[in-house]
Amino acid sequence: MTVQQYDLISMGGGYAGLAAASRAAQLGLKAAVLERGSDALYACNSRVAGGVMHISYNDPTTAPGALAQAINEITAGYAETALVDAIASNASRAVHWLRDEGASFEQATTAGWRNWVLAPVRPPATHLEWKGLGSDRGLRALESKLHERGGALYRNTQVVDLIVENGCCVGVRAKQGEQELEFRGRAVVLADGGFQANECLAGQHLTPSPQSLKQRNVRTGVGDGLRMAQAVGASLSTLEAFYGHVLSRDAMQNDRLWPYPQLDELAAAGLLVNQRGQRIADEGMGGVYITNAIARQADPLGTSVVFDEAIWQGPGRAAGIPPNATLLANGGTLFKADSIAELAVKLKIDAAALESTVRDYNTALADGKLGGLQPPRSATRRKPLPVRTAPFYGAPACAGLTYTMGGVRINAHGQVLRPDNTAIPGLYAAGATTGGLEGGPAVGYAGGLMKALTFGLLAAEHVAANR
Ligand SMILES: Cc1cc2nc3c(=O)[nH]c(=O)nc-3n(C[C@H](O)[C@H](O)[C@H](O)COP(=O)(O)OP(=O)(O)OC[C@H]3O[C@@H](n4cnc5c(N)ncnc54)[C@H](O)[C@@H]3O)c2cc1C
Repeated sequence: MTVQQYDLISMGGGYAGLAAASRAAQLGLKAAVLERGSDALYACNSRVAGGVMHISYNDPTTAPGALAQAINEITAGYAETALVDAIASNASRAVHWLRDEGASFEQATTAGWRNWVLAPVRPPATHLEWKGLGSDRGLRALESKLHERGGALYRNTQVVDLIVENGCCVGVRAKQGEQELEFRGRAVVLADGGFQANECLAGQHLTPSPQSLKQRNVRTGVGDGLRMAQAVGASLSTLEAFYGHVLSRDAMQNDRLWPYPQLDELAAAGLLVNQRGQRIADEGMGGVYITNAIARQADPLGTSVVFDEAIWQGPGRAAGIPPNATLLANGGTLFKADSIAELAVKLKIDAAALESTVRDYNTALADGKLGGLQPPRSATRRKPLPVRTAPFYGAPACAGLTYTMGGVRINAHGQVLRPDNTAIPGLYAAGATTGGLEGGPAVGYAGGLMKALTFGLLAAEHVAANR
């Protein structure tokens, strides 16, 4: 069997794995990325991402204290302090490092969280478009720096197992087609991008019906890193939350309707109901939270977003790729009716039940008693609007799953932890493989690209500092 020797070995060639390897090579280590994809521009979430580098919707160069506060607020205190502090205090350095590696940035809008968008910025198309755009170019820049520094990226190379000797991770076993290989090194960085495309794991942790979620990603994250880390005694965070958005149910079949438009703002201003005409979640918590609530329904394909003309003309036009008018233009279903009863018939919902839900909501909103609804409705994150101006609208919805937020627990250096919080020597993880920073009951989102980039850097720097 062929055995290759490196200092640092990244499993996965997204931003987490490539940042770790490129930074390690910059610090004088011999580094390699092992990537399962075989194409020159192999698919991964990093390559197709929108390229918005933010920390919980804040400019990553914001003062660390403010970034930490933003993560703590959005996760309602769920995020582990060590990880919050690590990303908050290194985010600014990380985006500047990526720029120095050759990635370009543009300020996409005047909204602060879009100050650092990988350029060229994605055009406002609803379908998946990525080739030659910012995220793809940034990855290519990292790969070319890795090669310049003597590192290697092995395509068509699937890591199948960790090699652990005397309690230390000393390498991986991998396959290139039928050929079995060993890569040995002082450090392995698990950076395989989450478990969203593993139906079995998704069924255990995210939803009773994994096939009823729309994979709003490129299906490369199948939980290999999670499985391998668990097998060597790693501690895992809670696994129940994922990052995603509310999509038109037609996205299940129609590729023009994902990854955009998101129906998040419509649901967060109006109502999300099930087939019995009942609300299922606090819509005021926003789109990522609502999407998780849809996934947890017995029938995730049974919910609809209900709103009125004022919401359609207001929040419906607010997003970068707004549902008004991209939903209809791309073949999405939108029912329209002069009354809630008529809308209910079109949505195949019991009319009396939907009328009662809308009436109760409008009354509670007018009386300032939204907290008394069941489930309660909050009003601090998203402004609730009345549903009373005809015509009324109903959009059949589904949950778009982008990546899983839970995973392998790490410390501030990216070292994989055991349940007693000691590190497994030689084993690191970064990016969507990891948990503890995002998710929790509030399903707080910290920013997938920044999480991947920053913890990739921190892992490499720890390996270099401890050589
Ligand atoms: C449509 C879309 C838009 C997004 N937009 C944004 C955005 O604007 N801003 C933002 O912050 N986040 C965004 N994200 C999320 C972001 O892309 C991810 O959180 C981030 O890229 C994760 O990086 P990663 O390196 O951890 O994983 P990935 O990019 O998923 O890379 C993991 C790699 O590991 C490889 N791999 C898997 N298993 C193995 C194995 N056994 N052996 C070897 N290789 C393996 C995979 O092939 C893949 O190449 C978006 C995601 C999507 C899908």
